[in-house]
Amino acid sequence: MRTIVAGNWKMHTDAGGAMALLGELADWSAANPTAVELVVAPPFPFLAAAVQRAAQPDAMGRKPAILIAAQNCHEQEQGAFTGEVSVPMLRSLGVGACIVGHSERRQYFGETDEAVGRKVAMLLKHGLQPIYCCGEQRQEREAGTHRETVARQMHAALGALTPMELARVVVAYEPVWAIGTGLTATPDQAQEMHAFIRGELRKLAGEGAESIPILYGGSCKPDNAEGLFALNDINGGLIGGAALQAASFIELVRIAGTVKYPR
Ligand code: PEP
Repeated sequence: MRTIVAGNWKMHTDAGGAMALLGELADWSAANPTAVELVVAPPFPFLAAAVQRAAQPDAMGRKPAILIAAQNCHEQEQGAFTGEVSVPMLRSLGVGACIVGHSERRQYFGETDEAVGRKVAMLLKHGLQPIYCCGEQRQEREAGTHRETVARQMHAALGALTPMELARVVVAYEPVWAIGTGLTATPDQAQEMHAFIRGELRKLAGEGAESIPILYGGSCKPDNAEGLFALNDINGGLIGGAALQAASFIELVRIAGTVKYPR
């Protein structure tokens, strides 16, 4: 099973800050090969430079292993959609993955499950890896309807994909009440939902579900990551705040490596 630690920089950094942060991550990655896959999602304007920096060997000729992802994409291939960014544009830059369905996009930009599904399909069509986000709101958790919410999101967005297509998707479970709030799902809550998601994936992908990575997201930090990453159905993390400092992101990668691939 793959283990992935992905950083979502959201609308943070500027050109200089983004390159400085990526430079630190790239240098670390070049010097510290790991089985954990590093994914970094900078804001759109910095993607081209990020792809180039992530491919640059260090002074000793060692190459970093960082996949550059976008944080969003448009569901259409091209057209009169002022201000939007298409999947073919991302592919032409060498971007390898894209976060879709993040709760901030659903909440502030009105993204529906169906629109998210169309984005997933467009990414697959062009060979980019979708990092598909799902998760319940606080009220849904309190009302005990969190499983229904996540099942609805998943079936609406992923239900039309073939098992082969699903094998190229990464799922991120992000309880909305835990994102950027400092509240984290307890290991029991997280494992229970990840196992539930694995079960829903089985309905869609059969045995293939066993190798679809399911990342946890929501105030995941070095001081709580070990308890989460150690769990059976948690295959890494989607990290917001703690991805904005190289030291904490690298620490999360290190923790994931230690718990998932003990020597
Ligand atoms: C996110 O936005 O995907 C996220 C998990 O953010 P944070 O780690 O800051 O809660």
